Amino acid sequence: MASYSAQCAASTAELSSAELFENAKNYLVDGYSRPIVLEPHPNYLAYGKGCWAFDVDGNGRIDFTNNFGALIHGYSHPEIVKAITEQAGRAVCSTMPTSLETELAALICERLPTGDKIRFTNSGTEAVMLALKMARSIAGKPKIAKIEGGYHGQYEYIDSSSTPSPSQWGDPTEPPTIARNSGTPGYMLPQLVVLPCNDIESSRKILAKHKEALAAVIVDPMQLQVGYGRPEVEYLKALRDEATRLGILLIFDEVVAFRNGLNGTQGRVGVTPDITVLGKFIGGGLPVGAVCGSDEVMSVFKISREGPRVLHSGTFSANPLTMAAGAATMRLLTSEVFDRFQSLQDRLSDGMDSVLQTYGVDARLEQYCIGSTKLVFGSAQIRNWRDLYQYYQNHQLSKVAPLQEALLKRKVLVSRLSFLISSPMTEADIEVVLEAFDDAVKELAPQLRGECADLNGSVNQQATNSLT
Ligand SMILES: *Cc1c(COP(=O)(O)O)cnc(C)c1O
Repeated sequence: MASYSAQCAASTAELSSAELFENAKNYLVDGYSRPIVLEPHPNYLAYGKGCWAFDVDGNGRIDFTNNFGALIHGYSHPEIVKAITEQAGRAVCSTMPTSLETELAALICERLPTGDKIRFTNSGTEAVMLALKMARSIAGKPKIAKIEGGYHGQYEYIDSSSTPSPSQWGDPTEPPTIARNSGTPGYMLPQLVVLPCNDIESSRKILAKHKEALAAVIVDPMQLQVGYGRPEVEYLKALRDEATRLGILLIFDEVVAFRNGLNGTQGRVGVTPDITVLGKFIGGGLPVGAVCGSDEVMSVFKISREGPRVLHSGTFSANPLTMAAGAATMRLLTSEVFDRFQSLQDRLSDGMDSVLQTYGVDARLEQYCIGSTKLVFGSAQIRNWRDLYQYYQNHQLSKVAPLQEALLKRKVLVSRLSFLISSPMTEADIEVVLEAFDDAVKELAPQLRGECADLNGSVNQQATNSLT
């Protein structure tokens, strides 16, 4: 081991991605700590600048994944780098608070319609766990309801029913709770109630049935998964009404959805949750999560003689490095930035749309939030998890994955054909993408038109499993 480390330190700089991946597999399961490894090997990042990511093999690509939205200002933004490096010289963590925590708290609470107070955690997963604890304490009841197919991080209680398959999923009007992991304790499953997305009538019935034991409903108000499908505004309003009527809390998971305009998705749809969960970009690219709510809701953390009603701590919670990067990021995220996101995404959508028409490909561009565009094949609507599963079956292996690979070869990095725009992107970058897109679609046109015998059949497990 020692000899490998020594050799590694001396020479990794010269190794190719393929060689680095071979070494990685000696020590890391599948060579990576995340389930998003590309075949035959991932491209190892050397550095990023603005919206471009450069790998160790010397390739540069426009990055539309932005680490799933965490890099809303791209790589190494000078002001964010400055904030991090200056703070690193002062302190990276401490039991003592810093004013940076208040600064970031104010920047977020002033924008979030339902945010009087906030608490920081180290990841979205942790923030979701905390939101569920809060809800149970406030409501005095144990169960939580989620939308079938919804992704809310890795906590095994809430990742159940995030990817059920047809052999498991049963009645569409009353979906069963399906463990996502082998080893999830059976006693957890009845504590999680599953709702069919966008089916108001069935969801109402299910909520009413469990109301005596139900503490909260959690929903991502912007997307079902990675931009695919979304709860309609009428559905969100119905959840709000039912929650109020039945005495349960409504939790919005805005870990990604907060990028949907200055006031998040709740600001856009005009539905107000009781608790909001945040994460991703609010930490400026460093690990972060947060829960936010009214003074009343957030008072569960207040310390009294018996201690707080709900314990929230964390060695690295609100660490000054994350707070500095987050505050710099939020200050840079002005309404002008959102306006630019909109004009860049309009240009991108229009351009891709005309390429698809030129080559006769049946696909559409969905603008599911400000600052992103998603390419969806066919005309079938994706309104819930089961539609989405069918979509993967029909298009993942035959169209989505090949087009993504063709784009990767042409300097465009995208995940699930969801183009997340970052603030350093320019009109010139969009033109580069459109040229690459034209070239890639031209090459694959017969396949994308469905004229080739395709590889349908087994759904790509990699695709349905790795949802972060
Ligand atoms: C990423 C994500 C999470 C989990 O956040 P982590 O920081 O990865 O733990 C939760 N909910 C949604 C909607 C997410 O996209």
